[in-house]
Amino acid sequence: MSHDAILAACGLDRDRITGGTLAVTTPVDGSEIARVPVTDRSGAEAAIARAATAFEVWRQVPAPRRGELVRLLGEELRREKENLGRLVTLECGKILQEGLGEVQEMIDICDFAVGLSRQLYGLTIASERPGHAMRESWHPLGVVGIITAFNFPAAPWSWNAAIALVCGDPVIAKPSEKTPLTQLAIQEICDRALAAFGDAPEGLIQTLIGGPELGEALTASPDVALVSATGSVPMGKAVAGDMSKRLGKTILELGGNNAMIVAPSADLEMAVRAIVFSAVGTAGQRCTSLRRLIVHEDIYDELVPRLVKVYEGLAIGSPLENGILVGPLIDAAAFDAMQAALDTARAEGGTVHGGGRAMGETYPDAAYATPAIVELPAQGEIMRQETFAPILYVVKYREIGDAIRIQNDVPQGLSSCIFSTDVRETELFLSAQGSDCGIANVNIGPSGAEIGGAFGGEKETGGGRESGSDAWRAYMRRQTSTVNYSTELPLAQGISFEI
Ligand code: NAD
Repeated sequence: MSHDAILAACGLDRDRITGGTLAVTTPVDGSEIARVPVTDRSGAEAAIARAATAFEVWRQVPAPRRGELVRLLGEELRREKENLGRLVTLECGKILQEGLGEVQEMIDICDFAVGLSRQLYGLTIASERPGHAMRESWHPLGVVGIITAFNFPAAPWSWNAAIALVCGDPVIAKPSEKTPLTQLAIQEICDRALAAFGDAPEGLIQTLIGGPELGEALTASPDVALVSATGSVPMGKAVAGDMSKRLGKTILELGGNNAMIVAPSADLEMAVRAIVFSAVGTAGQRCTSLRRLIVHEDIYDELVPRLVKVYEGLAIGSPLENGILVGPLIDAAAFDAMQAALDTARAEGGTVHGGGRAMGETYPDAAYATPAIVELPAQGEIMRQETFAPILYVVKYREIGDAIRIQNDVPQGLSSCIFSTDVRETELFLSAQGSDCGIANVNIGPSGAEIGGAFGGEKETGGGRESGSDAWRAYMRRQTSTVNYSTELPLAQGISFEI
């Protein structure tokens, strides 16, 4: 399929996505595929005002009816899975299987949110006073701004939007300036769901197109109750700083530096598959990509050469083609950052396997790289940084306690895992003395989470949680109510106050 045909299949006709000032290039071949008009500051403020008005109406709609809108959205997404998945691939370069996976994740979270729309439950709490009842209720919060990163242009919007919508909140998307087209296509899909729904207020689901300044428009406005931001640690610190000035709420989903411990008892067949998928998937540009491998010294000489061999045979190429496992990096700057990290690793005593340019003759304007394995004598500075590229650093360990210490000794705390069949080790890894990450897996790689669990991480990853479990509470405000149905007015703590 041509690039234009992929765009047109998602309702993005040429005249809609040309003539603007934001150039969009596809990482597949480096060619420009669109020049989209950007939203200016006054456009952003008008959108926020529309959303604030929509909130007045939407918060009164019964939650299960709000769920009906999300059900319709899920149906539209099912119909559009193929088209939208291909657009994700064209725009951010992940292989088609992963592009489709992202849309499936959107469908899954819609299903979850529809069920949730009938379970936004509170609590009844024992009151210390006779004839009193105490309860906790959850009410809609307000407008939710959703800032997203280039590497997941579709799914994180839906983790936030599907939940926020059933919770009674209007949503405003601010996708990455590198991948605005996927969000424009999602907005089209939402508009169809809204039309089928019938009586949703105008401004319930909107999109702002442009750079960080539009994210800043969301963080600056007191009419935006919550900003959920997915992206780099520096971006998260900027958003947190801006929001704290007005004590607004945030959910921060920031960078990861994810590790796997491979113990002597591990099933190496399974470990190799998990390592390769999680280290080279999305060309190492997932927040949950495997970046650090901590291997027991007894199996190091068996595992590492085997990985190097698998890496040498990886199918690298256009992510739109079947059978390809590694697509391009997002742009030349990402390739340069990868090379700089590899140079630093060499300077730290690392032995680098792979890591050079790939597909240079076929796509001279694109940024394909051969995934790299770097054997390091110990975890140094470069291994503590998140380089958004397919680099897998490998170090040895002898004692499980040391392996856990290495795993935790980084600023980020998103995802982690252990491959072991020794229950003492796996339970230690999951215990309070174990992994300090928001996600800790056993005999599964660190990437590819399901939507049923709460997703997010600790430390510089930002502490936010999205998606399943009780993450919905962040999109609502909590209200504690005490009701007196007696004929007395006793005060709490037995305080006497006679007038
Ligand atoms: P980025 O931080 O450059 O940009 C992310 C978004 O933030 C973009 O939409 C950008 O316009 C916006 N932005 C930037 N500065 C801003 C500011 N000061 N105020 C408001 N908005 C601002 O990130 P990226 O390069 O697109 O994505 C890669 C990063 O995202 C990696 O670090 C990756 O680990 C992280 N990520 C995290 C998760 C997660 O769930 N934890 C998921 C995906 C990506």
